[in-house]
Amino acid sequence: MKNISCLRCNTEMNHTGTKKFQLGETGWVLGDLPNLLAGSMEVDIYTCASCGKIEFFIPEDKNSEIGLRKCPSCGKKHEFDYPKCPFCKYEYYK
Ligand SMILES: [Zn+2]
Ligand SMILES: [Zn+2]
Repeated sequence: MKNISCLRCNTEMNHTGTKKFQLGETGWVLGDLPNLLAGSMEVDIYTCASCGKIEFFIPEDKNSEIGLRKCPSCGKKHEFDYPKCPFCKYEYYK
């Protein structure tokens, strides 16, 4: 849990809860992120009591999973920005 100040009015935001989203419903919240993940994901929800702004955060313990892609060839996980799998040299952009 973090201490977050509202970007708009600088009031401390309250942690309202954690919500589990199924993939396919998350596009409006998280943009392209769901495309990188499989299954469902949890987000922490913070709200500002003063102006009503809502912010979503990926829980910190999930952060390490984000940006990893699973190689379809060898099944190992590696960072997303590799053009090839560093383990088996599978090429994604042929
Ligand atoms: Zn606010
Ligand atoms: Zn591989």
